[in-house]
Parts: sequence; structure tokens; C-alpha cells
Amino acid sequence: SVTPLGSSVIPIVNKLQDIFAQLSSQSTIELPQVAVVGSQSSGKSSVLEALVGRDFLPRGSDICTRCPLVLQLVQTRRKPDGADEEWGEFLHLPGNRFYNFSEIRKEIEAETMREAGFNKGVSDKQIRLKIFSPNVLDITLVDLPGITKVPVGDQPSDIEARIRTMIMSYIKRPTCLILAVTPANADLANSDALQIAGAADPDGLRTIGVITKLDIMDRGTDARNFLLGKVIPLKLGYVGVVNRSQEDIILNRSIKDALIAEEKFFRSRPVYSDLADRCGIAQLAKKLNQLLVQHIKAVLPGLKARINSSLVTVAKEHASYGEVTESKAGQGALLLNILSKYCEAYSSMIEGKNEEMSTS
Ligand code: GDP
Ligand code: MG
Repeated sequence: SVTPLGSSVIPIVNKLQDIFAQLSSQSTIELPQVAVVGSQSSGKSSVLEALVGRDFLPRGSDICTRCPLVLQLVQTRRKPDGADEEWGEFLHLPGNRFYNFSEIRKEIEAETMREAGFNKGVSDKQIRLKIFSPNVLDITLVDLPGITKVPVGDQPSDIEARIRTMIMSYIKRPTCLILAVTPANADLANSDALQIAGAADPDGLRTIGVITKLDIMDRGTDARNFLLGKVIPLKLGYVGVVNRSQEDIILNRSIKDALIAEEKFFRSRPVYSDLADRCGIAQLAKKLNQLLVQHIKAVLPGLKARINSSLVTVAKEHASYGEVTESKAGQGALLLNILSKYCEAYSSMIEGKNEEMSTS
């Protein structure tokens, strides 16, 4: 049901991201990512999990996501025998393949404890996880801590400002697509998600509104006006979803069953029947897919120009060494040329040193 991306450009982009993360250098290339923002327990982690189609993120009614989790999805080829091999690998545990997704959740929780402490603290340090699967989109998703107002546990008194700054550091990048998650049972007009997304993306060119918890709205109310953008207009529009409830999680209900239940939910609600393109996780995946391709197309010319100009520089240097030829004499001449260039460089270095010595 999830549309895989056909472009071969994205794995290269993902590789670059990994390299930049390890070099901890400020990349000059703005890379496309998708980040979820919203208040605590709005359903951010649930939306990401549903997009991935696997259970592996810590979720719950309390603060669970306490470090930014950078989740790189890598689409693998389906095996001819139809066996879908899926695994996860953490940057902090290289070479260690996790085939059991509940072990992935445990490792995220353990690493969160190591980085952000035991008592509800929050840390800027990223957890980087790759998920390899034939069933995913080739994209990078970032799960972020939710916006909280009142400090609890070890949280400092300025927790709200700190979390906002952390979220902004991700979503202010012009290439970051923002999923602004608001639960349908809260006041959309006061949505933290839409407020912070609006601060990062005032023109609304890269913000998708996601309305969760359509299943637990007050009796007699519905999210039609939200989804139609009549409450807060959003250029890229809204998608309404139904994730698993806490009870579903306790009962170990699978994502697959939850997606089926979601489809049934929308089918059985006449108010949503003419809004099919704005309802369900599959529609959200489709929308993301289109936006991502659009974004990559937009950044490619710049990348190409930069690579071309460094290519020209290298080609010039290469040409300055002379032509490569087949003949022994030609090769001798080339070697001589390189040697004399080396000697020139060497003696000018020595002279430079002597000059320095004589002037001191
Ligand atoms: P986060 O803090 O924003 O990452 O939110 P979580 O994904 O951890 O979800 C918080 C709680 O809300 C969990 O207990 C979820 O089961 C529940 N939840 C999330 N989305 C929905 C939904 O669409 N419907 C219902 N009934 N519960 C949901
Ligand atoms: Mg979360």
C-alpha cells in the first residue's frame, strides 16, 4: 500500500548524510528529510511507525521520545522466494543487525537512557538508525521530542524553550519537510505543531498537516473542516489518520491490522467519503513521495553545478601534468615533467624556509 520511491538519487543522498554525521561537519548541502513536530502524545511516533509499517518506536502517554531519532529508510530488493528480510542498524553499533524490531525499540530506549538520563531529561544528541526493508520509502525521517510546557522529572525549567530550539534546528532547514501533527480531539487553532511549523516555514511550502486521533473525537463532531483547511489553511493541505490507541498497543495489535482498521474506519464514515485523498496513512505516504521527488529535483541543479566546478579544478590540475601516452618515450617525458614540478615545489619550499630563517 505504501508507494516506494523510484528514484536512485535518494540512497546517495542518505549516504552523504551518514558521512556528514560522522565527520560532524556542517554540511553545505541541504539534504531532504521529513521531521514530525507537535505536542507531547499527539501521535508523532505513531505516524512515523505507520509510515514505516513496523513497530519499533517507543510510544506512550508519557514522554517517550527524548532525543532526536534520525531514521533512514533504505529500500532493499525483494527476494525471489518472497521472504522479506527487514533489519535495523544503529550508527552507534556498526555492523550489528537487529532483525527483531522489539529489540530495536529496547535499544532506542537504552540509548535514550544513556544520552538523556533516566528521569525524563531531553538531549540534543541524535540517535541514528537505518531500517533496511523492501517495504519502505527511501527517505529519512526524524522523530523529535514533543513540545511540553511544564517541566517534570530532571527537565530544566526552560524545557519548553529548549525543545523548541531543538525542533527549530531541524525544521528551519529549507529542505526539511514538516509533518505538523495535531490530535483531532484538541483545538486546532491552538496547535503547537502548526505554530512552530509556521515559524519555520511561513509560506507553508513544506508543511503537511496531519490530524491524528480521528477515532476519539467527541460524538457528533468530525474533522471535515480541519481536513478541508477551513480552520487553518495550509498550502499543502491536511491528511487525517487513525493510529493505534494505547489499548491496541497493550493488546499487541499489529500495524497491518491497524492499517486495515483505519481503512474500515474511513469507509464506514460517510462524512469522509468525498475526502478519500485526505484520509489515511497510505495517502500521507503518497503525498510525501510527491513532495520529496519535487524537492530533490529542485536541489539537483545546484549540487550538479558544485560538483562540476570541482571537477573542472581537478581536471585542470590533471592536465598540468601532461598527456598520458602509450610509448615508453612519452611516459618518460611525463614522469620527467612530474619530477621537475616536484623539484620546483620542493626547492621553492626550501628557499621559503631559508628566507624565513635569514629574516629572523
Ligand atoms: P508522540 O508523543 O507524539 O510521539 O505520541 P505517540 O505516538 O507516542 O502516541 C501517544 C499516545 O496516543 C499513544 O498511547 C498512542 O497509542 C495514542 N495514539 C496515537 N495516535 C492515535 C490515534 O489516531 N487514535 C487513538 N485512539 N490513539 C492514538
Ligand atoms: Mg514520540
